[in-house]
Parts: sequence; C-alpha cells; structure tokens
Amino acid sequence: MIAVTNPATEETIAELPEPGVAETDEAVARAKAAFPAWRAVAPADRARLLRRLAALVEEHGEELAGIESRNVGKPISGARAEVGMVADVFHFYAGAVDKHHGETIPVAGGVDLTFREPLGAVGLIVPWNFPLNIASWKLGPALACGNTVVLKPAELTPLSALRLGELVLEAGIPEGVVNVVAGKGSVVGQRLVEHPDVAKIGFTGSTEVGRRVMEGAAGTIKRVTLELGGKSANVVFADADLEGAAAAAPYAVFDNAGQDCCARSRIFVERSAYDRFLELLVEATKGVAVGDPRDEATEMGPLISAAHRETVSSFVDGEPLFRGESPEGPGFWFPCTLVEATNDDRIAREEVFGPVAAVIPFEDEADAVRLANDTPFGLSGSIWTRDGARALRLARALDSGVLSVNSNSSVRVATPFGGFKQSGFGRELGMQALDGYSEVKNVFVSTE
Ligand code: NAP
Ligand code: MG
Repeated sequence: MIAVTNPATEETIAELPEPGVAETDEAVARAKAAFPAWRAVAPADRARLLRRLAALVEEHGEELAGIESRNVGKPISGARAEVGMVADVFHFYAGAVDKHHGETIPVAGGVDLTFREPLGAVGLIVPWNFPLNIASWKLGPALACGNTVVLKPAELTPLSALRLGELVLEAGIPEGVVNVVAGKGSVVGQRLVEHPDVAKIGFTGSTEVGRRVMEGAAGTIKRVTLELGGKSANVVFADADLEGAAAAAPYAVFDNAGQDCCARSRIFVERSAYDRFLELLVEATKGVAVGDPRDEATEMGPLISAAHRETVSSFVDGEPLFRGESPEGPGFWFPCTLVEATNDDRIAREEVFGPVAAVIPFEDEADAVRLANDTPFGLSGSIWTRDGARALRLARALDSGVLSVNSNSSVRVATPFGGFKQSGFGRELGMQALDGYSEVKNVFVSTE
C-alpha cells in the first residue's frame, strides 16, 4: 500500500495498491505492444489527439489544480498556473507533430535523406515538486514523436498523474500508449532503467539518483536525459533597479517553498549596494504570504514531508539574517529564511530544496562570474543590471542552461530548458525536446 499525504494537514488523502516489478514489466509489455500502431498514426491524427488531451486538461483544470495543491501542499493559485502550462504544453506539441522532420542533403552520387524515428517504449520518471507539469514536459514530446510511454510519478505525489492517465484515454489516445505505474523509485524506477524493452529514460530528479539512472542505463546502452538539481545564482549589480530586484528575489527562492530546481538560492550582491539591497530583500521577504494552500492569497505552503523538513533544517544553524513566520502545524512548515554566507559554506554548495537563501557579496564583474560559476551545478540563474552589454557578457560567461536578465523566469513552453554540468543534459520544452525522443536515421539513395 502507498499512503498519500497532504503535507499541509498531515492527513492521508489516498491509499493505493503498490505496484512492483511484475506490474512494471506488464506496463512495459503494454507500451511495447502499442508502439507499432501508435507510430503509424497519421501525424495530423496524432496532433488531434494531443489537442483533445490539452482541451480535457483545460476542462478539468480546477479539479487537477485541487489534486496538485492537496498532494504537494502548493498554493492553489500556483497549482492553477501549472495546470494551465500543462494544457499549453500539449497544445504546443500537438502543433509540433508535423514540424519536426528530416532533411534532404545533396551528396556525391545521390541524395541523402534523414528521418526522425521514434525510439519505442520510453520510461518517464518524475519528481514530486511539479508532478503534473514535469510529466507533461516529457509526455508531450514523447507522444508527438510517436513513442509509447510508461510514466512513473514520485511515490509521494502520484495523484495527478493517475488522473491524467484517465484523461489520456478519454481523449481517445489508444490503450497501452500511456501507462502510469505509481510505485517506488527503487522498485519501479529501477526496473524501468534496467528493462531491455525500454528504449530511453527521461528523468527529472536529484543529481544523486540521476547518477544511478545513468549507471543503470549503461547495461542496455539506454538513451537518457537527465534534468537534475541546481544551485542557481541571482546576480545583482549596484546599477540594477534594486527595488525591482529585491521585490522579485524572494519569489526566485521561496516559490514552491524553495522546492524548485531553478531556485536562485545564491543571491550575489555587488558590495557597494550590499547593505541597501539586504534591507530591501528582508522587507520583501516579510511580504511572502505563507499559509493554507487553499487560500487564494497564499504564496508559499509547507514542505513535502517531515523527513524533507529535517534535511532543510540541517542547513540552518545559528541565527539567520532573517527568519519569517510560518504556521505551527500540523503540516510540514518551514519559514522563509535568509542567511549571510560565503560561497564556500555548505549552504552555498549543496541544493537545500527549501525556503532558504544564501546572500553573498561580490566585488566586481569578474568576481561575480567566478563565484556564480564556482558550483558543480548549472541549471538556471538571473542577472540584474541596467547595463545591457554587461548583461550579455554575463549571460555568455555563466555556465548555466537557462538564464534571465532582470527577471526570475526560467521555464517557458516554447523555449529549451535544461542543465549544464551536474544539473544534467538534454533539453525539455521547445522544439529541442523532440530531439530527445527521436533518433535520426540517414538513408542514402543512389542516383547513378
Ligand atoms: P529524486 O529523489 O531523485 O526522485 C526523482 C524520481 O526518481 C522519483 O520518481 C523517484 O521515485 C525516482 N527514483 C528514486 N530512486 C530511483 C532509482 N534508483 N531508479 C529510478 N528512479 C528512481 O528527486 P525528488 O526528491 O523527487 O525531487 C527533487 C530533486 O529533483 C531535486 O534535486 C531537484 O533539483 C530535482 N528537479 C530537477 C528539475 C529539472 O528540471 N532540472 C526539475 C524539478 C526537480 P520515488 O519518489 O519513489 O523515490
Ligand atoms: Mg528524493
């Protein structure tokens, strides 16, 4: 049995049978059997089915947002926005089905054609922080390319994926094309990684488990894309709109209670503006509305579990620069916390995955680049300055897959998302995600 908990109340909201290796193998067999017919569906028809799925997600938006909010402890307003993105993702990949194709390359003695072939049955492994969103980032391109899938949501947050599985069938996508197996990573996930009939693993999660996925995939030379952890930088220059940067900075860490791979949890501030910025940052952080996820005005809910709260707590020893208010409980609450640090402290090296930010001064542009890049991760980041040339110099110099200038934004449906260094490889979203769910085939036709 898997007991599903509401992290804001600690109540059990569902009890599900626990699938094991046998159920995983059955799901893979169903996906494998469904593949030949699914890849043969005419592109326009595949697009139509994805569009119908998008429409069903929209129609059931309030229900899905409610599930996600209860299961993850997300504020309902944020959950609604995420479900909106899920629909947009399916619309985008519906439109992409017939726009991702091969080339004709003139070569000596003939013509060379390339085709984009689907991979087969693919395994999609998803974390608990954005369960439905991240599932859609993988499902959209996987289905658009003609693959069939086994989707494994996180053990803590299976409910939205299970509901989506029903909507997939309601949309008319044939039985067996999408199979949801809501079980443990160490059992179902591991089996998918090692299964000889799984052609690829699309994984989002921690760098630690990502490493294990990569090792496990080696046995069958399985394709993998890894969307892993981060320790992203928010670089604030003295010439920036300091008020604007300070007002935005808390939401770059405390959104989703800091359980965000893109959290800009290292806030670097140019020394000459450091004191002023700290004042503004503390004021802005006081404004983050923490509380009942069902409340429309709530901006931050609880952490996902008691165990995770223990981990997050272990990063804060001594008196922080600022500690906000949070409810007493029940619920796995943790307050917004700001800590002054150096880039060598544990809090600046490791992903906290909670509402804790390290604030670190820097001397000049070169120092900012050096510090921001001094991390094993490279997922996201922001640059705040009014000097456009400097913004571009930094954007080129930072080792990170996704950067924004004078903005917190990381993720958009039409633009590629993914990491450098130990934040992983492969890209989700945008047209680039389709490359991860197809194989290039090259056919030479002699004209001699
Ligand atoms: P996690 O512990 O790595 O788990 C991720 C998924 O992998 C879960 O479904 C998990 O199942 C499964 N899993 C666990 N062990 C496995 C194994 N041996 N083989 C195959 N699958 C296995 O990550 P999390 O705690 O859920 O999520 C937080 C992490 O995700 C953070 O590090 C965060 O930065 C990262 N993340 C990255 C991105 C990105 O796009 N780069 C986005 C969001 C989150 P169980 O739940 O059953 O353990
Ligand atoms: Mg985990």
